[in-house]
Amino acid sequence: MICAKCGEEMRMTEKDTSSGRDIREYACDGCGHTDWEESGPALWQILSDDRKELEAAQANRALVAGSDARRESLEPGRSSAKSLWNRLFACFSKERLKGKS
Ligand SMILES: [Zn+2]
Repeated sequence: MICAKCGEEMRMTEKDTSSGRDIREYACDGCGHTDWEESGPALWQILSDDRKELEAAQANRALVAGSDARRESLEPGRSSAKSLWNRLFACFSKERLKGKS
């Protein structure tokens, strides 16, 4: 998540999926601004059986992200869930890239 005040990448400070919703709190190290977002149903609810597949897909995405990120749009299947998956991947990518410093 990008800070609305200073544009810095915000650090995720809390993740609450206990209610079945995926709610994440962020804090900006630059100016102290805090914000939160709701990413829809908690991952464990919709991916309980797809976790390994998701992790494999993430690893594959990381490999191709630098050179050919658009290749993903050519992958077969999952058309009905594609927009959801893309949103999930976007969230993960931001978190993974920024680390847990
Ligand atoms: Zn800020």
